[in-house]
Amino acid sequence: MTVPLKSRFAPSPTGLIHFGNVRTALFNALLSRKEKGIFLLRIEDTDAARSRESFTQALQEDLKWLGLDWQEGEGIGGQFGPYRQSDRAGIYESHLRTLEEKERIYPCFCSSVELEVSRKVQAASGIPPRYSGKCAHLKADEIEAKKAQGLPHTLRFRMPRKESLDFEDLVRGKQHFSTDEIGDFIIRRSDGSFAFFYVNALDDALMQVTHVFRGEDHLTNTPRQIAILNALDLPIPQYGHISLIVDGNGAPLSKRSGSLAVQELKEMGYFPLAVNNYLARLGHNYQDNSLMDLDALSAAFSVENLGKAPARYDRSQLDYWQSQALQKADPPLLSSWLRESVSKWVPEKEIDAFASAIRDNILFPHDAEIWAEAIYAEKLPVSIEAMSILEETPAEFFRQASGCLSHDLDFKSFSQKVKEKTGAQGKKLFLPLRVALTGQTHGPEMPRILPLIGFERARHRLAQHVLNEDIC
Ligand code: GLU
Repeated sequence: MTVPLKSRFAPSPTGLIHFGNVRTALFNALLSRKEKGIFLLRIEDTDAARSRESFTQALQEDLKWLGLDWQEGEGIGGQFGPYRQSDRAGIYESHLRTLEEKERIYPCFCSSVELEVSRKVQAASGIPPRYSGKCAHLKADEIEAKKAQGLPHTLRFRMPRKESLDFEDLVRGKQHFSTDEIGDFIIRRSDGSFAFFYVNALDDALMQVTHVFRGEDHLTNTPRQIAILNALDLPIPQYGHISLIVDGNGAPLSKRSGSLAVQELKEMGYFPLAVNNYLARLGHNYQDNSLMDLDALSAAFSVENLGKAPARYDRSQLDYWQSQALQKADPPLLSSWLRESVSKWVPEKEIDAFASAIRDNILFPHDAEIWAEAIYAEKLPVSIEAMSILEETPAEFFRQASGCLSHDLDFKSFSQKVKEKTGAQGKKLFLPLRVALTGQTHGPEMPRILPLIGFERARHRLAQHVLNEDIC
């Protein structure tokens, strides 16, 4: 029986998830979806001081909002749980005992000051910093004596000497590391907490994860993780280190340079479909440039199309996908998306017609407010440009227009009649009509919004300019 492909997302719940980590989740989800495998969610909450339950909850909501459902892990369960690292201490301890029996770990009593001095000395002689090996060969009685003195100790993983650690990265190809350059590293801190290298690698192996896409910032962790898994005779997943997302200056994308949390995107009114289409193309090349749902994105997802170069964040591209998603949104989705922003003006029974009339003129729900007012407000707000058009247009034009309005509210025949009556044409015809009827010089197509403005309101708006002029 072949083992099913299993990919995973393993976030640390120390903050809201942003573009970078959600794109990692997306690539892992697309791969498992394509291969009909399993997508697993593991919560890496070993940093007790910074992890928050609220972030654990928020990230699950974010994944669900994007449609990135997982089939195993947090909140669902599965054969290899628990799926929160904070619940797995017993598992980590038992594998430490195996490593101890195999003499692959040892207690290290070096203080942080000692380690710092050693690092500085190495740096001064141009040697890459690595552990000196001072505690690597302590005898059992020396260890006991130090423990009896109450000296705190970490546990260090004993790296094999003079070996090379090679692996084939799914994205970056052949990777070569030398064990001597890495040196022995800490896998359990003196406070009893476990290092990332250890628990992350162990969990992937025990949960039978076969594929790991993660940020390229983790690339140098991989040889350490492979060494741990080798020492435990555990299977090694295939790693793929995806390029980082950078800002316009080539610096890693940060909050300051425009990175947004998924929750912010949601609050702003981005469609999940737009976010997925944007992120899927950030570092992955698709031949097809049309808007694709998750099935299509996963069917066309391919490891070969993942780029090694940093992926540049471009908000205008995200907005392009938003406009695409907006065009494709069906009426119920569109209406529920903007209802809250416009319910003050738009009657519920007209919300579908309103939404479809203005969809080409908006990108976000709050953009709809101006058109809701332009159509429904009793007291019409008039823009400055619109005001000057009104001033330039003779009252007679509006008097005639008002008389041409009929109950069918067919804008084409209405404007044709006004043209015949006033002789105005082109911009001189359409602009004053639009301005008088909506208070704006541009906006949704008049044939679509005149029926929503309605006969009474439209006539009142046209007549108002006749009166104003007469009073002057
Ligand atoms: N918890 C780690 C992180 O959020 C996971 C890294 C990995 O995917 O292996 O960076």
